[in-house]
Amino acid sequence: MSPPAAQEASGLRRRARAPRRDSRIAHALAPALVLALAACDAPTVPARHLEDVYRFALLTQPPLVYRWPAGTTIHVLLNTGAPPQADTLEAAFADAAAAWHSAALYGEFRLVRVGRVEEADVVVTWSDVPPPVQTQECEPELSPGVTTFCLGDDPETDETECSLERRRDRLCPFPLQPPAQPSASRVRFLLTIRSDQATQPGQTRLILAHELGHTLGIGQHSDDPADLMWGGRIESAVPSDRDRTTLRVLYQTPPDIVP
Ligand SMILES: [Zn+2]
Repeated sequence: MSPPAAQEASGLRRRARAPRRDSRIAHALAPALVLALAACDAPTVPARHLEDVYRFALLTQPPLVYRWPAGTTIHVLLNTGAPPQADTLEAAFADAAAAWHSAALYGEFRLVRVGRVEEADVVVTWSDVPPPVQTQECEPELSPGVTTFCLGDDPETDETECSLERRRDRLCPFPLQPPAQPSASRVRFLLTIRSDQATQPGQTRLILAHELGHTLGIGQHSDDPADLMWGGRIESAVPSDRDRTTLRVLYQTPPDIVP
């Protein structure tokens, strides 16, 4: 069969076909920024030499580095739905977290599951399971997998009500759904996996591992199809040597934005 993931290709969400790319970038400090493993045309391998590290800063003007402070425990809520798709997501997360932990030699981060959204920094959800956070300000786009987060507005120029803190060096939390207190949120990342992937555990694992890379701070796609953070169809849910090196360089780079 031809699963949607077979069409996966590059796509930071700044449009693979891109006539609006620049305006999207210009809006990068507006509320929503979405990094997607999106469906688009088959990618091609750049002819240029593939180096050991690829770029990870967000394609904003200027480029911005975001990452968690070194040593952070990142609390992840899985919005699983019912079995069997719940089992698929839980297994995929366990594998993906272990894969990224193996890339963090110096305890740069730890991905840990939590049971309550009030404790969560990250929510992973199927697209057909209502998320425990409000997404009106930052709508996920429909694609096999997508990572959504919101940059703080510039309080001088932007009237958008995105952040309670309204700081540009932090990400805006997604408000919690009632009956929780919306403002009690610490959720900075929403990872949405399209529910039709639930019947394909292998694809779910690939997509979740890739999206967790964005959550850790890799804000671009690799230019090598052998990397987990390649924007096209990926074959392995394990970070490549290049992914690992990039991650380590990222965590030695001072961030412009911390979640
Ligand atoms: Zn991606």
